[in-house]
Amino acid sequence: MISNTAVIALGSNLNNPKQQIKTALQIIAGHPQIELLRTSSLYITAPVGYADQPDFINAVCIVSTRLDAEQLLAVLNSIESSFGRERSFRNAPRTLDLDIIDYNGESGSTPCLTLPHPRAHERSFVMRPLAEIAPDFRLGNHGRAADLAERLGSGGIAVTEAAPVFSDGRKQAV
Ligand code: ADP
Ligand code: MG
Repeated sequence: MISNTAVIALGSNLNNPKQQIKTALQIIAGHPQIELLRTSSLYITAPVGYADQPDFINAVCIVSTRLDAEQLLAVLNSIESSFGRERSFRNAPRTLDLDIIDYNGESGSTPCLTLPHPRAHERSFVMRPLAEIAPDFRLGNHGRAADLAERLGSGGIAVTEAAPVFSDGRKQAV
């Protein structure tokens, strides 16, 4: 079986965001072609870009999958849609945002996908959770997750809940 490793970032700031993130993780974990390997704690973060909106809940997970990157993005987009997300304007409040941060360490761009995610390395709400579960992960040519997280600092972000445990009792498969 061809196995690929991807890092996915989750964010939500509407309609009980903690529950949105936990349900999204459960759907990802339950997908027949995706195996959830690690899940970060849930973080509460102050909004960036457009400040007049509720705080976000963010998390990061690492998955193994047989899907190629575009297929994975299509799955994530359909999960977003099933959560009722409407794309209004950039940085707008959203029920669920799912981004591919990294896929097999590949770099490149298609019209709908840029890898690694072009802004992940400057977002503490991505790098802190990633550093928690994979401190030595190297993101493109930006260096180690732990070093990036350290450099970005902990302003506006805090752990609010431990990594969710799924119904089969599995929190981390590795
Ligand atoms: P953002 O996540 O930056 O707030 P959106 O979620 O609205 O913005 O995504 C806008 C577009 O970004 C999507 O239509 C998607 O095709 C594209 N995109 C490009 N690269 C990625 C990536 N690595 N992960 C997720 N979406 C991506
Ligand atoms: Mg997105």
